[in-house]
Amino acid sequence: MSKIRDYVPIVGESTIEELFLLAERLKGKIIQNINSTAVGGGVAEILIRMLPLLQDLGVNASWGVIKGDEKFFHITKKMHNALHGVDASIGRDELDYFIDVNRQNTQEIMADADILFIHDPQPIALVEQKDTLGRKWIWRCHIDFTNPKKDVWDFLKNYIERFDCAVFSAPAFSRPLAIRQVLISPSIDPLSEKNRELSDDLVNGICERFNIDRGRPVITQISRFDYLKDPVGVIRAYKMVKKHLDCQLVLAGGGATDDPEGMKVLEEVHREAENDPDIFVLFLPPGSDIEINALQRASDIVLQKSLREGFGLTVAEGLWKGKPVIASAVGGIPLQIAHKYSGILTHSIEGTAYWIKQLLNEPEYAAKLGVNGREHIKYNYLITRHIRDYLLLFLSLYEQKDIVSL
Ligand code: UDP
Repeated sequence: MSKIRDYVPIVGESTIEELFLLAERLKGKIIQNINSTAVGGGVAEILIRMLPLLQDLGVNASWGVIKGDEKFFHITKKMHNALHGVDASIGRDELDYFIDVNRQNTQEIMADADILFIHDPQPIALVEQKDTLGRKWIWRCHIDFTNPKKDVWDFLKNYIERFDCAVFSAPAFSRPLAIRQVLISPSIDPLSEKNRELSDDLVNGICERFNIDRGRPVITQISRFDYLKDPVGVIRAYKMVKKHLDCQLVLAGGGATDDPEGMKVLEEVHREAENDPDIFVLFLPPGSDIEINALQRASDIVLQKSLREGFGLTVAEGLWKGKPVIASAVGGIPLQIAHKYSGILTHSIEGTAYWIKQLLNEPEYAAKLGVNGREHIKYNYLITRHIRDYLLLFLSLYEQKDIVSL
């Protein structure tokens, strides 16, 4: 596991010193994170990396996980979809069951925790305990809800407004609420397997394993096989480019085996790829972090042609590796890319094809976008910034008066 001082060569001594100063002011406070899964998913991924760093800073931070059965997670999955604007009917009995499971989990709340940091909707009803227990309560929402279904939103809002504040990942996701809202974007960890530096030998070895030719341009999109990531649109853009320029396309991701829709998308992708030997559809097992890292590093261009997106961590990952990234202007992506400065924002298959050709024809301009993109990620979307925002947020709970924004 990384130590906080390992980040000094990347973000500088003063950034780390500031974290120690902020952490010092939290002495004596116990912060407990609570979510609904210890492994898998972005929330767990961030907590796994962040908890040891907080502890290394001297912050007394811990992490509890609520327990639920299949029925509970089936209900929360429907809630999740409804928050993304998908039709999903959730009955009153299901909502009651959701509340019951939350009540059964009240023992997860540590007796001496000062700040309860509740992640996402699954454990949200724990806040019922606030009236009896007191303490400071934060609700951290990792979901994109620009367009949530009203009935589910109304149900959750009733709980959200009992917290001291709510944290969202991008401005577009905030909603009218009677409590304070804070914007804190997610982050990537430059020292994780997914993002750390790799030797050329390792990158070459992984490309060889997949039969990717490093002598010709490589364009890559890393994503779960999901309609909203538009892999078919990516292939169509590649085909338009391929009429004019030689290149290879890598579509790599996993998450389809237990998801019937994912398998359907994968089939469509194969159909659209028409056995083109220069299209590499790679189905990656979970934990393929080094492979993803190597594929991103081996790319001339990284794509993220999503139709809808939360924050879009793959964009940050590509930019951090100094790659020119062409991505759709949706969700949190415009926070990461200033068009024609730190990457390219597009709105269509044609636009994506146009910019792939431009960047392949102008490698110096493409390289400049990559350099600017890496700088932008370095200052805004690394885990050290994320920790700083959280520490400031925790402190602000005790000094509500003059807080404007973090
Ligand atoms: N990812 C992965 N394996 C895959 C596909 C994606 O580890 O097969 C990673 C990817 O590198 C990124 C995260 O999962 O870190 C996806 O986050 P993002 O915000 O881009 O999209 P989401 O999947 O959350 O919609």
